[in-house]
Amino acid sequence: MFAFIKKYFQPDHHFESINKIDSKILKESKIEGLIIDIDNTTMPYSSKEMKVIVSDWINKMSDENFKIIFVSNTVPERAEFVSDYFDKPAYGYAAKPFKFAFKKAIKKMDLSNDRIAIIGDQIFTDILGGNLAGFLTILVEPIESKDFFLTRIFRWFEGLFYDRNKRLMQKE
Ligand SMILES: [Mg+2]
Repeated sequence: MFAFIKKYFQPDHHFESINKIDSKILKESKIEGLIIDIDNTTMPYSSKEMKVIVSDWINKMSDENFKIIFVSNTVPERAEFVSDYFDKPAYGYAAKPFKFAFKKAIKKMDLSNDRIAIIGDQIFTDILGGNLAGFLTILVEPIESKDFFLTRIFRWFEGLFYDRNKRLMQKE
């Protein structure tokens, strides 16, 4: 059971926010592409306020030649906003954690799955989905905690999970 949890629900890395991710760890894992979540990872769930430190980090990764695609379960309108903002592809209504959610992004990047990292704030969509797809998985803390009702339920489960498995969830 613990091996199963570890394999699918444990992120490879955990950071306070996306802009704290050191590109060295990506390069060490031979990562060439980033699949980035939108809601509460790139911008708050309830607004389009883009933090400068976040957009700077994303632009810096683009300058360092990482291929970047946003994949989100959010509404297409927010995906379009992010796509225009960064001039990168962004797909909404993606149905993470299912593998097919990433199909378009993988094809567009033209990379094998082990060259891709997923960055997101939710264990049950981003991390589970990323582990199922064989990506490097990076969990970040959500930008704002006030979010959608269903997300809150997921978070409640995640909270239980996190506490009980704290030892397991920590980086080795
Ligand atoms: Mg999110």
